[in-house]
Amino acid sequence: MRIDTPVAIVGAGPAGLLLSHLLHLEGIESVVIEIRSRDYVEHRVRAGVLEQGTVDVLDECGAAERMHREGLVHRGIELRFDGRRHRIDFPGLTGGRSIVVYGQQEVVKDLIRLRLAAGGRILFEADDVSVHDLESSAPRVRFLKGGEEIELACRIVAGCDGFHGVCREAIPAGVLSFYERVYPFAWLGILAQAPPPSEELIYACHERGFALYSMRSPAISRLYLQVAPDEETVNWPDARIWRELNRRLGDGARLDEGPILEKGVTGMRSFIAEPMQFGKLFLAGDAAHIVPPTGAKGLNIAVADVRVLSRAIAEYFASGTETLLKAYSQTCLKRVWRAERFSWWMTAMLHRFPEHDGFQHRLQRSELDYVVSSRAASASLAENYVGLPFDT
Ligand SMILES: Cc1cc2nc3c(=O)[nH]c(=O)nc-3n(C[C@H](O)[C@H](O)[C@H](O)COP(=O)(O)OP(=O)(O)OC[C@H]3O[C@@H](n4cnc5c(N)ncnc54)[C@H](O)[C@@H]3O)c2cc1C
Repeated sequence: MRIDTPVAIVGAGPAGLLLSHLLHLEGIESVVIEIRSRDYVEHRVRAGVLEQGTVDVLDECGAAERMHREGLVHRGIELRFDGRRHRIDFPGLTGGRSIVVYGQQEVVKDLIRLRLAAGGRILFEADDVSVHDLESSAPRVRFLKGGEEIELACRIVAGCDGFHGVCREAIPAGVLSFYERVYPFAWLGILAQAPPPSEELIYACHERGFALYSMRSPAISRLYLQVAPDEETVNWPDARIWRELNRRLGDGARLDEGPILEKGVTGMRSFIAEPMQFGKLFLAGDAAHIVPPTGAKGLNIAVADVRVLSRAIAEYFASGTETLLKAYSQTCLKRVWRAERFSWWMTAMLHRFPEHDGFQHRLQRSELDYVVSSRAASASLAENYVGLPFDT
């Protein structure tokens, strides 16, 4: 079967779904192909911090109604180290900006509902997805759906299929340059039915390793522990997790413990593929770049990418001009690298590195001390955390 569509979008994560909706608002239809089921993508727990710019984009495209009702506006974060607690006050340091905590899976649910209500086409559970003729003016995407072979004939392919997708891999060897840093630790993340010790995120730099607390709702907490890169969840029964969280995050008071609903280990890496384009294939989000989650930037740079891409595609279909499409990669990479720098810096400042000696430990402490004692340094952290303006 052949389906004609102006834009084929591979991947129904936040990047692919939002791109499809932004294009729809520009009068451009698309087909989204997703390897997983709708239920799976709607319940995949990942990021949860939305920058002001991301909130603004969701607002502009009518996808923010439930987020405003259920999301939690956070006006700061707390840094804990050496028994000290220090609050970074976002509005006070950034001229009134803040963040919203709202699970990525909720953003995905909202976007899927919105797309389907507007007649959008999302084909879930597609197998053997492959992309072809990317350097021609008529690229194609092929896949199997329920055993049937389907071909999407299109003019633009958006590779929004995440880090392990097929689109980046389809670009011939030698075209892309890769920049990568793999960190010598991972995060063990849990979702727990436990009331929060604080409404705001707590970042703890402890001699036993980093820990992070975040609140997903008044009854649900998301907590992370720095663990070895090859760690497995079977080694972490619930009691051990709570004991370790109490050691690293606790400041005398015990955390409220509750049933652990989900547990997973995530590796930490920085990765960028340049350029984010090959012929008529445009990579967006995790397909092109990965950040360690310490700076809460992954979802936000994916949103920034597709906002740039939707405008470039709209210009192309309105006038045949490729000016914005040609500038797409360069426009996005400027912001991507800033997010990469901030995520690397937060990661380096807050984690225990196995190879660090006494000199490096003391530098790390000195960095933290500077951040909490200098208004300029606190403002730099706050400005990056709430998100640099989308157009920089
Ligand atoms: C375990 C985990 C925890 C994270 N935690 C945080 C966090 O706390 N804070 C933060 O800011 N960021 C976090 N991130 C990063 C953040 O979730 C991502 O940056 C964000 O999901 C990027 O969105 P995306 O749409 O580009 O990619 P994805 O969300 O990965 O979406 C890609 C989609 O493509 C689909 N797909 C893959 N291959 C194919 C194929 N061949 N054909 C069709 N579809 C395909 C996938 O199933 C998926 O639905 C985390 C990531 C992971 C993996």
